[in-house]
Amino acid sequence: MSEQKIPYKIYLEESEMPSQWYNVRADMITKPAPLLNPATHEPMTANELEMVFCKELVKQELDNESRYIDIPEKIRNFYKMYRPSPLVRAYCLEEKLQTPAKIYYKFEGNNTSGSHKLNSAIAQAFYAKEQGLRGVTTETGAGQWGTALSMACAYLNLDCKVYMVKCSYEQKPFRREVMRTYGASVTPSPSDTTAVGRRILAEHPGTTGSLGCAISEAVEVATQTEGYRYVLGSVLNQVLLHQSVIGVEAKTAMDKYGVKPDIIIGCAGGGSNLGGLISPFMGEKLRGEADYRFIAVEPASCPSLTRGVYAYDFCDTGMVCPLAKMYTLGSGFIPSPNHAGGLRYHGMSSILSQLYHDGYMEARSVEQTSVFEAAEQFARVEGILPAPESSHAIRAAIDEALKCKETGEEKTILFGLTGTGYFDMIAYEKFHNGEMQDYIPTDADLQVGFDGLPKF
Ligand SMILES: *Cc1c(COP(=O)(O)O)cnc(C)c1O
Repeated sequence: MSEQKIPYKIYLEESEMPSQWYNVRADMITKPAPLLNPATHEPMTANELEMVFCKELVKQELDNESRYIDIPEKIRNFYKMYRPSPLVRAYCLEEKLQTPAKIYYKFEGNNTSGSHKLNSAIAQAFYAKEQGLRGVTTETGAGQWGTALSMACAYLNLDCKVYMVKCSYEQKPFRREVMRTYGASVTPSPSDTTAVGRRILAEHPGTTGSLGCAISEAVEVATQTEGYRYVLGSVLNQVLLHQSVIGVEAKTAMDKYGVKPDIIIGCAGGGSNLGGLISPFMGEKLRGEADYRFIAVEPASCPSLTRGVYAYDFCDTGMVCPLAKMYTLGSGFIPSPNHAGGLRYHGMSSILSQLYHDGYMEARSVEQTSVFEAAEQFARVEGILPAPESSHAIRAAIDEALKCKETGEEKTILFGLTGTGYFDMIAYEKFHNGEMQDYIPTDADLQVGFDGLPKF
């Protein structure tokens, strides 16, 4: 098909929306390492996991074999309110960069939560409701996950208790109000409402919190409140599974126009959008049917893949969660306040960690001022005001497109534009005023986190 025929926006029909999630673990030669019980160091059993998570989600978490899993009708109907999401050909950005590269992005910001997180929120809330639970608890960093979960819970009439990382709670009062509009209760973390929160506050007075702290608090409340379970917005296998809807749609849209990406790029916090976007393409690579370059982009201030170690670690600061084998900076690592709150997690999805470890994926880290430069450049030509997290992927996509300009290669680049940045204007303001700083932890800073890794 000739170049001109590719529209600016490729929309799929509603009927082309995936009816199944794709489970990349089915095609992985080396499966991701299992979650371990922190006390016995034995793999977590379904029964143990069911004390924290819903039954059906535990099944999905442990399923390394089923290649496809049906998306229940009720979830598909919810998806239809904002999906299929557009795949955009960034003609204007290409023009601006004067690159021979062809750039595409899959835009997940077309819903009120402003990010891809709604794809998993509705699935997790649905299974909680099916199980007859009263409510769910969770953590949120920048606020996108909390917002997404509040929306899903409002839709299904479930109670929603959100522990929000304190620095975001203070920086983003409007986020908090969006969650309350959807009926969630929002508590800044660490808080004195939980035992683990009180302990963390005593050990680190004045801390601005971290995702790891907020997780510990949310898990404590879920396990001690009748009719509640905990849900997590990233990192877990089940979340990557739900997010595969992004990749399956992207691949369907590209296949429709006979386009094959050479490079696929995503920002990586806990790995869910990246894992979801690359899943069907990675499946082809794992089965030896096609080859792609995959690039994970993370903040230089929280470099779990590029500077972390591959080891079993706690998923949370309070050390109440199971141990996961992942690239990690240590659960005690509290990153400097970075404006991409959704990327401030110390660890990384076990699936992506294993794929990276086995050489199927690359990773790079970028500094936040260069991320905001890319964000602004993108906003001015493509119109969308990107989230700081998403802008990490924009940075890498622009860098790859500029490399093509040097070499004259006409590569096709696909990146995930995970969301919009309307609630991040304080960060944009800092950038515009020249007040934004690049924090890069020293090796000694990282060593403190590594020293706290569980030893066995
Ligand atoms: C949460 C978030 C991310 C990072 O989370 P992953 O699980 O790594 O995808 C990226 N972009 C946006 C807009 C987010 O809200």
